[in-house]
Amino acid sequence: MSLDLHACLPVYATLDWAATGRCLPDKVLPVPPGIIEGTANNTVNTASVYSVKEIYKTVQGEGWHTGRAAVFLRFAGCNLWSGREEDREEAVCSFCDTDFIGTDGPGGGKFRSAAELAARVRSVWEGALPAGASDCAQHAAFEGPFAGEPAAATTKPYVVCTGGEPLLQLDAPLVVALQASGFDVGVETNGTKDAPGGIDWICVSPKAGAPVVLTRGHELKLVYRQALALPDAFAHMDFEHFFLQPMDGPDRERFTKEARAYCARRPQWKLSLQTHKIIGVP
Ligand code: SF4
Repeated sequence: MSLDLHACLPVYATLDWAATGRCLPDKVLPVPPGIIEGTANNTVNTASVYSVKEIYKTVQGEGWHTGRAAVFLRFAGCNLWSGREEDREEAVCSFCDTDFIGTDGPGGGKFRSAAELAARVRSVWEGALPAGASDCAQHAAFEGPFAGEPAAATTKPYVVCTGGEPLLQLDAPLVVALQASGFDVGVETNGTKDAPGGIDWICVSPKAGAPVVLTRGHELKLVYRQALALPDAFAHMDFEHFFLQPMDGPDRERFTKEARAYCARRPQWKLSLQTHKIIGVP
């Protein structure tokens, strides 16, 4: 495919064009050097190296799958914020509460193949503590009760690919490898990139100022209240479920009341609470 790169400029074209020949929307930023270690140009996964911040087992705390046991596979890097506090004010997404820089979290690292990463995810599901997990008391304390337990026979294992922005790295071979390891594969994305085919559960969480490319999936989960990303802007999109999730922070109580009132008026929307924070688990 030929591509006029200049047609993409001054849009931040380096993010996607090398892999797909498509320009991404305005205001979607390339990931600064050092945020995704080991990934070519810190952009897309052309080097077939998956840079993973952490992998741990917990229960899904938000949205449709709340309460379901899951392995969280957190990829390093995001295209809407560098992850550095000094950049937050200028970031497209400024309310992030997640550390996604580097590969130094429990179970994190650089994985040279989809099979290698899928095997690590499986071992975490089965209760094997990933290297370094014991360094993190919060994770280790939660993983303890699962250690040595066999996977439940009646419940399909579930992996949530998150970040950072997982679709900077999650590709079709990894989806296939995770499914071959027995997992339903979910993704939680900001929606600024297309997803590879075959994902079992797509959850898009739009961010104000970042145009949504991925307009269909299973669940749209909107952090509320973002003044420039109000529910009406997304209500027409092709999702099975629509959630409002009050933004954490000093105004959480007010946003919760407002979100609850909005859901009462517009039953298309349901309230999603961050139950993992309520019970104090990652
Ligand atoms: S898009 Fe998601 S991971 Fe990226 S900065 Fe925003 S909340 Fe954080």
